[in-house]
Amino acid sequence: MRLVLIGPPGAGKGTIAEKVAANHGLAHLSTGDMLRDAIGRGTPLGAKAKEYVDTGRLVPQEVLGEVVAEKVRQLDGFVLDGYPRSLEQAEFLAALEGVDVDAVIYVAVGEEAAVGRLRGRRVCAKCGAVTHTETAETCGNCGSGDLVARTDDRPDTLKKRYGVYMRETEPVIEYYRGRGVLREVDGTGSREEVLARVEAAIGPIAACGDDKR
Ligand code: ADP
Ligand code: ZN
Repeated sequence: MRLVLIGPPGAGKGTIAEKVAANHGLAHLSTGDMLRDAIGRGTPLGAKAKEYVDTGRLVPQEVLGEVVAEKVRQLDGFVLDGYPRSLEQAEFLAALEGVDVDAVIYVAVGEEAAVGRLRGRRVCAKCGAVTHTETAETCGNCGSGDLVARTDDRPDTLKKRYGVYMRETEPVIEYYRGRGVLREVDGTGSREEVLARVEAAIGPIAACGDDKR
């Protein structure tokens, strides 16, 4: 099964993608995580991507496209989170042979809820686990790491990222709707609630995908 998760920054895509991937034995591919990792390790990809990620702009397709293509071609099944984020990227993905996407899950949340979530988002400096300031002071995963804000979650950058989403990514939702693969899910409420809705939306596809398609 090949799934794409799409939604505004703060929709909770990362958390959902991770759970859905684990539930169905699929690989979780997050372009945001991949880029942050590359930046952290100082790879050539990281060097090219850094200024874009730091300022909340899209990393150019020339930099990211082939890297994503190479990964998805190697996988039987995946949950893709953070890609495609523009019509150009959607068309690039559609043109890859043998990588037909079974469903695109659109996690819908309004700007206020999304931005509220991101303002409180903290990442464990030690293990990378994501938490929220309202729910935790220390890392619930490793128990000892400091919780820090992502540099691109600062209010000004956040606003910019939301603008990029409206301009570049929203058209991708209509693109997939037109192709009949879009499933819209209400992204408000608790993690568990949203996850249950996503599972319900992919249920029919998962049922006929026991061959790991
Ligand atoms: P969020 O979904 O919270 O906005 P991500 O972790 O998915 O954050 O992405 C963080 C940053 O990584 C983006 O603001 C952008 O700079 C870069 N990025 C991630 N995915 C892509 C993509 N498909 N195309 C271009 N840039 C990307
Ligand atoms: Zn931790």
